[in-house]
Amino acid sequence: MDPENAQELRVGPALVAFFPSRFVGKRLPMAELCNACGACCRVIYVEQSPEEIRAVAQLTRVLGIPSDMQFAAEHWRPLSREEAMQRNPFYTRQLPTNAHLYTCDQLGEDGKCQSYESRPLVCRGYPWYGGKPVKVPLADPDCGYGRQLDPRPVSPGR
Ligand code: SF4
Ligand code: SF4
Repeated sequence: MDPENAQELRVGPALVAFFPSRFVGKRLPMAELCNACGACCRVIYVEQSPEEIRAVAQLTRVLGIPSDMQFAAEHWRPLSREEAMQRNPFYTRQLPTNAHLYTCDQLGEDGKCQSYESRPLVCRGYPWYGGKPVKVPLADPDCGYGRQLDPRPVSPGR
């Protein structure tokens, strides 16, 4: 994929910048931070509505432009607020009441991504997208990325 041409999905209020080179050297190895709980895939929050995702997916497909939207249009299903509350109440409670919410059919029973190698950049960059850790709602209280927000040293014996 040519990241220069990649279309953007915006997560929550943050603009997602899709330049993988920005991630190099800035992220701890995934295994150290992600416990593969799958919470961030059970309920996905992006700014785009289903109609916007479908329209951009269609346009970029016709134009031959790589786009996260194409993956999202194919694999993400819109969720009602009630469905999202059932799937991840911890996360959903923190999101705006008019948030566009989705879930992904590539999430396996084991909490792992079934399209790991081809997952879109909006997934690859979660949650900081190459920037500094900032206070945003994380999808799970035990998400390892939360440790980057609270770098207090663990005292001996804990
Ligand atoms: S919520 Fe955090 S720990 Fe859970 S799958 Fe997502 S990134 Fe990994
Ligand atoms: S493609 Fe994989 S990482 Fe992205 S939302 Fe779906 S299951 Fe999660």
